[in-house]
Amino acid sequence: MFEIKNVSKQYNGEFALDNISSKLGQGLNFIVGASGSGKTTLLKIISGMEQDFDGEVYYCGKDIKKLTSNEKSYFYNNTFGFVWQDFNLLEDLSVLENVLLPQYLKNKQNQKNANKILKELKIFDLAHRKVNSLSGGQKQRVAIARELMKNPKVIIADEPTSALDEKNSETTMDILKAISKNRTVIVVTHDVNLIDNDSNVIDLDEGEFVSLPQNNVTKTEKLTYSESHRLSIKNAFTMTKSNVKSKFGRFFVSALSLMIAGILLLTTVNGTVESSSQGDFDELIDTYGDGLKDISIVSSFTSAGGVGDNQEEKPNADVSQDIDGLYDKYVGDKRVDFTAFLQAFDNIKVKVSGKEYQIQGSGTVPTINKLVAGKMPTGKDNEVVVPESFVKSMGISNEQAIGKQIDFSSGIFNWDTGEPVLKDASITAIIVGVADNTISSEFTVDDSFFFSKAALHDLRRQAGIENEAMNFLIRAKTPTDMISIKDELNEQGIVPLGQFELVEDIVRLNEQTTEQSGSASMFIGILAVVMVIAISLITGFMRKREFAIYKVSGFNNAHFSLLNLTEKITEIMTAILLMLVTSPLINIATKSLFNASILNSKMLISGVLFIALVGVAAYVSTAIAFIMTKTTTALKTGDK
Ligand code: ADP
Ligand code: MG
Repeated sequence: MFEIKNVSKQYNGEFALDNISSKLGQGLNFIVGASGSGKTTLLKIISGMEQDFDGEVYYCGKDIKKLTSNEKSYFYNNTFGFVWQDFNLLEDLSVLENVLLPQYLKNKQNQKNANKILKELKIFDLAHRKVNSLSGGQKQRVAIARELMKNPKVIIADEPTSALDEKNSETTMDILKAISKNRTVIVVTHDVNLIDNDSNVIDLDEGEFVSLPQNNVTKTEKLTYSESHRLSIKNAFTMTKSNVKSKFGRFFVSALSLMIAGILLLTTVNGTVESSSQGDFDELIDTYGDGLKDISIVSSFTSAGGVGDNQEEKPNADVSQDIDGLYDKYVGDKRVDFTAFLQAFDNIKVKVSGKEYQIQGSGTVPTINKLVAGKMPTGKDNEVVVPESFVKSMGISNEQAIGKQIDFSSGIFNWDTGEPVLKDASITAIIVGVADNTISSEFTVDDSFFFSKAALHDLRRQAGIENEAMNFLIRAKTPTDMISIKDELNEQGIVPLGQFELVEDIVRLNEQTTEQSGSASMFIGILAVVMVIAISLITGFMRKREFAIYKVSGFNNAHFSLLNLTEKITEIMTAILLMLVTSPLINIATKSLFNASILNSKMLISGVLFIALVGVAAYVSTAIAFIMTKTTTALKTGDK
């Protein structure tokens, strides 16, 4: 039973209740009074929905003001039943699904009890009808049936008949009266005709006045906490199933938003947008060949006017620089693809397996477009990379050439005196690689032989060259690497040779597009996540009434967390399925937009992860909407 001691409640300085004291016990209790006299406020206070008031309220000795949210949810599932003017049913679910709602938190589903209650209230035939197709009187009986499933000690009914016609009002009152035999039933009403003589009546119009038939309040109910009060995973999935079925449109929109956000995030991180600019960049490399990324380091050269038609107009300047030790420095560098010595040979003769080949002279420095077989020489042994054209003239494949021994002899110019003097040199070396020597996709430099450091040293020693520093080239891995090495060399006072201006332009262009598409990607990614959060918050807000019904049925935050989880898992799974089914279409779309198909098998796995990730954002947003739902504001009460 309830003890109400000096309860007052003010809203904005006005008293909604002014110093009310009373006792409510087993049987029918009526609270009457004019509209605005505080009837609903009193119900909210005694049921613990409103805990901010002056005075005290006890239920069986338990201080209602001090109930924790977990205790409240236990009370709402086991002890207090609520009947409302506008029923507060889940309109899109069936009668049976509504009636079973408080039961989901109990250990075992009591289907038999549900049938018994539905029969008693004469709505058994409606069990599988959707609530929104029922009449008001039928709905109120469904609502009472749902509350009776709690087998509550107390039924609190706020104007349960004001939305009903006379006949249905009578039926409802008869039901409430019948169930008050072994319960405390508190009914707020306008209609004094409904009140019979032996009931306890609190008339709020009379202020503090209280009338108490003593026999009603002496009986007290014992408080129990024996029953378990938790949502099982199975029940959470059962509820999710009914929710998905009854609100399929809402569910589908949520799943679709997860899928779209997942795919948008995918385009953001995998650089689909970038790859379109990367494409232009690679095209330039293709035109100029891999040699575009070459840096030549030579000990002396003639600068400015040394090439092309400007020869006469610009003064020539001989540059000499100390390149000692640079080769070893760059051999193992992370930015370097390979290094090769730039030694020119004149009048080359090569003997392989007793057969001699004369190599056509080109008059230029050796050139390498790319290595087509084997590897570059390491330097410790006498090793050589030979031109592909030479391998062809031997009539064997590039792979067959690897490992063959050649006897190499040629003339080498010795510039030590300042004038070129041709000296003979020869060596025996092993072929470790074959190079394609095409320049600018036009002609090949067929006398490009690249020796290991040891072998070249030997050859140059035979030609009497004393200068230890050998010219070499560095093939950078990327254009960015090339510019970084060039800048580094410049800092050391070395002037390297190469297509730096062109490459610098490309690098800058590439950086720009990467930066632009990077911020575009970031924007798309943020938009995707914001979209999911917004949709979850909006649907969460739209579900406020549903959430409040869960709460007054005894669901606490932990129960809802599990329900939310099963709902989100279902949405995520559906989103993933949607993505898999539509991936061929999506690929066609992204191919025309970004020139890349984003949903290959590797990307699909990332897509799955991203959908799960935005699913987490949706989960949190929905949880926030549930936690922020206040039953007192989400459920309309009392007079209309
Ligand atoms: P009744 O149910 O008897 O019609 P209520 O308990 O709903 O009356 O309201 C009593 C008084 O308190 C009314 O004047 C009403 O305007 C005011 N009131 C009720 N709830 C609130 C609220 N949440 N905020 C401000 N005023 C309120
Ligand atoms: Mg009211």
